[in-house]
Amino acid sequence: MLGAPGAGKGTQAQRIAEACGIPHISTGDIFRANIKAGTELGKKAKEYMDRGALVPDEVTIGMLLDRIHEKDCEKGYILDGFPRTIPQAENLTKALAEEGTRVDAAIDIEVPDENIVKRMGGRRACPKCGATYHVQFNPPKKEGICDVCGSSLVVREDDRPETVKKRLSVYHEQTEPLIAYYRKAGVLKTVDGTKDMDQVFEDIQALL
Ligand code: ADP
Ligand code: ADP
Ligand code: ZN
Repeated sequence: MLGAPGAGKGTQAQRIAEACGIPHISTGDIFRANIKAGTELGKKAKEYMDRGALVPDEVTIGMLLDRIHEKDCEKGYILDGFPRTIPQAENLTKALAEEGTRVDAAIDIEVPDENIVKRMGGRRACPKCGATYHVQFNPPKKEGICDVCGSSLVVREDDRPETVKKRLSVYHEQTEPLIAYYRKAGVLKTVDGTKDMDQVFEDIQALL
C-alpha cells in the first residue's frame, strides 16, 4: 500500500488481509510494538517517529525482510507503510527477485494534503491490536474502546498537527518517488482515497 500518512493504508490493508487470508504487515505497528516492549529497536525507532522522521533504512529493511520470511507469509502478505524510500524498494525488489518472486501490485491511495490533516485529528488507534478508527468517519461501537480486542483507544503521539505536517513533507520528499518506481515496474494501481472507506475497498477489490 502506498499513500500519504492518513490516506487509509492501514484501514484498507486490514480489510484486504482479512478478505485474502494473508497477513497485514505494518512497519509502523512493528515499531510501536517494540516501543511498548521497551526493546533496543523500539528505543531507536522512537527518536525518529516522535519527530515525524523516518526510521533509518539500515534498521527498517532488515526488520521487514525478516518478517516476510516468517511462515505465515508463505502464501503472500500485504505491506502497509513499507517501502517508504527508494532504497527500501530496491532492497525489497532484489530480495524477492533472488527468490523468483516480486511485488504483484502497488496500490496508491490518493488523498490531498488538506484532507489528511483533518483525518489525522480524528484518528484513534488500538495500542494492542493496531486497529484504527475515526471519531467521525469510523467510530468504534463503544466510544474509546476497540471493537476487535476491547482495549482503550489512544491518540498516537505523532498524530498531533505539527508532527502531521512534518510527516507530510517527509512523504512528499522521500516516499512519493515510489509511485514512479512502481509505475515503471508495471504494477502501480491508483485509487481515489477521498471516497468513503467501503467504496475505496470496493475499488481496490476491482483492481486486484
Ligand atoms: P501512517 O500509517 O500514519 O503512515 P505508520 O504507522 O505507517 O504511519 O508509521 C509511523 C512512523 O513509523 C513513521 O512516521 C516513521 O517514523 C516510522 N516508519 C514506519 N514505516 C517506516 C518505514 N518503512 N521506513 C521508515 N520509517 C518508518
Ligand atoms: P494510514 O495507515 O494510511 O496512515 P489509516 O488507515 O490509519 O491511514 O487512516 C487514517 C484515519 O483516517 C483513520 O482515523 C481512519 O479511520 C480514517 N480513514 C481511513 N480511510 C478513510 C476514508 N476513506 N474516509 C474517511 N476517513 C478514513
Ligand atoms: Zn484492538
